[in-house]
Amino acid sequence: MIKNPVPWPNGARCAVAFTFDMDADSILHLAHHSSADTRVAALSMLRYGPEVAVPRLVDLYAHFGMRQTFFLPAWCMERYPAAVETILQGGHEIAHHGYLHEHPNACEPEQEAYWFRRASEVIERMTGQPPRGFRAPSYRFSRVSLDILVREGLLYDASLMGDDIPYVLDNGQGQVIELPTHYAMDDWPHFMASRDLAYLMPPRSPQQAMEVYQAEFDAMWEYGGLWIAVWHPFLSGRLARCVAIARLIEYMHSKGQVWFATLEDIATHVRRVIADGIWTSRIDQLPYYDGPIPELGQTAPTLAR
Ligand SMILES: [Zn+2]
Repeated sequence: MIKNPVPWPNGARCAVAFTFDMDADSILHLAHHSSADTRVAALSMLRYGPEVAVPRLVDLYAHFGMRQTFFLPAWCMERYPAAVETILQGGHEIAHHGYLHEHPNACEPEQEAYWFRRASEVIERMTGQPPRGFRAPSYRFSRVSLDILVREGLLYDASLMGDDIPYVLDNGQGQVIELPTHYAMDDWPHFMASRDLAYLMPPRSPQQAMEVYQAEFDAMWEYGGLWIAVWHPFLSGRLARCVAIARLIEYMHSKGQVWFATLEDIATHVRRVIADGIWTSRIDQLPYYDGPIPELGQTAPTLAR
């Protein structure tokens, strides 16, 4: 099923990373800059992340002896320093997720570079080291995002969806390791319901969501893949869902031969097996296109009305 699986450490059958994106209320300020402060219920729902869910998740990881990766918009780090402290005391990785969750592909290249650097400075100041990894807010990786990652010396990206295993992104000047995931592994489609953020789906039961995540895990375990959850403390850190997460971790342990790791550790391992000639990666040259494809020309707007 997977043509070229990565040799995982200690003969593990798959690598597993529970990554949480602590967006808190950054997304509300971004969506409704002039009125976010008046949307108090939405603010409270989003602040549940840093205030209640992050300490709970860090406790959960401590119970299972796991170190994991949290992606934080840097504005959230400045706004919620206690959550940052809790994450760092748990021994977890904090990675780059923009400054205020701005969408890179909605920015001019200089703007994108500015916000990227501003966020990196906060991470370096508050964690003591520069970011090693990046996830584009809302997966909005731009045509120049890779150029910035290469220039700024990042090890990995975790925004794209092009494979079941890690692969290499190359812009002609350098490379980063891509650690891919996909939408079924994100908790928004399962749990998100907010009028203020114009996303109203009937929330699934924790068991229904876990069924999807567990099916993904079983396949990755069987064939040597990489399982990355893209979850949010204010959604998956809610009580009943957190209980279900604990059961999922127990299930993974019961199957055994699973490598639980931070994304930094996974990317470091992948880079090492490539450098040692033990494994050969697929390489994606980016950007995929320099602009709109030329074949349709002026007829494009009339072909899909
Ligand atoms: Zn996010």
